Amino acid sequence: MNVHDNTTDKILRAVGTARPVAVALPGAALADGPPALTVARLDPLTGLPDRGGFMAEIRALQMRGSAATLVSLDIDDFTQINEAFGLDAGDELLRAVAERCGQLGRSAGGHHVVGRVGADEFALALVPPASQVGAAAAAWLEDVMLHLQEVLAAPYDIAGHSLDVRVRIGRAGLVRGSDAAELLHQAGFARRLGGDGHIVHSYEDKHGERRLVQALHEAIAGCRIEIALQPKVALASGALVGLEALARWRLPDGEQIPPNIFIALAERHNLIGKLGERVLDQALETLATWGKRDLPRVPIAVNFSAMQFHDGRIVDHVAQALERHGVPPTLLELELTESKLLGNAETAMHTLHGLRSLGVCLSIDDFGTGYSSLNYLRRVPVHRLKIDRCFVSGIAEESSAREIVHLLIQLAHKLQLKCVAEGVETREQLAILREMGCDEGQGFLLATPMSPWAARRHLGSHRPWMPLFERTS
Ligand code: C2E
Ligand code: MG
Ligand code: MG
Repeated sequence: MNVHDNTTDKILRAVGTARPVAVALPGAALADGPPALTVARLDPLTGLPDRGGFMAEIRALQMRGSAATLVSLDIDDFTQINEAFGLDAGDELLRAVAERCGQLGRSAGGHHVVGRVGADEFALALVPPASQVGAAAAAWLEDVMLHLQEVLAAPYDIAGHSLDVRVRIGRAGLVRGSDAAELLHQAGFARRLGGDGHIVHSYEDKHGERRLVQALHEAIAGCRIEIALQPKVALASGALVGLEALARWRLPDGEQIPPNIFIALAERHNLIGKLGERVLDQALETLATWGKRDLPRVPIAVNFSAMQFHDGRIVDHVAQALERHGVPPTLLELELTESKLLGNAETAMHTLHGLRSLGVCLSIDDFGTGYSSLNYLRRVPVHRLKIDRCFVSGIAEESSAREIVHLLIQLAHKLQLKCVAEGVETREQLAILREMGCDEGQGFLLATPMSPWAARRHLGSHRPWMPLFERTS
């Protein structure tokens, strides 16, 4: 793309002259160290947050419930530019790209964060101004993306040369419940798929939404949606207390589509009911098989989408599925996302009571991201709260995240509910959660999602996470 017209000039004039991008990481206080952003989180060349600093910013946005769009940017042929013009020129180019991103962010209004997340990779988070909601926010974003393309495509005056540099751009929406690294990965994936001057927004763009929906339809009908099981562990003892079933979909060429993408696709195209049935069936079939082999059984949790939940027949469907597989209801747990429960409070309450009277266990998923009314929370007949991993991921470094998690644990206990921490990734997080009295934990530190076959080994005494408990207790 070679844009060098009036619009570009106008934008560059409007955004003004280069200024270092202001960096202030909210809540970046370290556990025992000094408050404020540490130098370790700043990239010395550009003055921008580095990958770690940028992630902390994104988590802070998630905690505030901001609807951000994440943009991944990569300078094409950066190595060749370094080789042809020298490392100083390369550095100059990096600073120029950083400045243009920052200027654009500032001129766009709203809130923005720029980070240098790799050698020649930048990331930009964009939050629309509070006054722009719905279609207006979407239009604002399209406008900013267009300007971003133009601004970055304008020639760069580097080492006495006017360079035409291509910066590839990809973007991803801030999906609730997904973590910063995953989002950045999605935006980066979209960027790599983009052709000349194209911003690829999503998997749907790559495959064509219609073709992707057709493939999903066939995968559901052909039983090619599989489940992975992730252990939940009691934080006091290290005992296995349950497993969560997570849907997995692999295209015939082996590419795995992230659940956040295909679940949303299934919801948009009315396939979620069928997809949910497949997941429930597989979870119950797994439990039935373990029962037949006299293996000890632990409950399996299945995620329920709002659309399944508001289908009036759901209680009957679950009852029939349990009967068909001969599985006791106490071995089934249903995870319901907090904001989705609130959608239609009275119908939701009715369904919850119906499910509960079947004897299945209920939990609220991604808790803390959906602004529950506390009064509502008091009335819902659930057994567990699962604290969203966007809070957990910050507890070792950010005092605000630590305080929120502590409050959520206390809230759950006051309401006589069990509390589960999602996304436990480090020993520090585990130690803090144990000290805070969190009942259960789930996360890559303890065990990653695995096939039902692999999960079966954990039903006996095989608990590879046990050393973590011996050392920290
Ligand atoms: P969720 O229910 O909150 O599931 C937990 C997600 O956290 C899973 O992502 C899991 O792989 C991931 N995870 C677990 N431990 C860690 C960790 O330590 N660090 C990080 N960064 N991530 C961790 P996954 O499998 O990508 O699923 C994403 C979401 O998609 C789920 O979030 C759930 O909302 C939805 N989903 C998955 N399967 C189903 C399904 O069968 N039905 C419905 N309706 N939704 C589903
Ligand atoms: Mg879940
Ligand atoms: Mg969750």
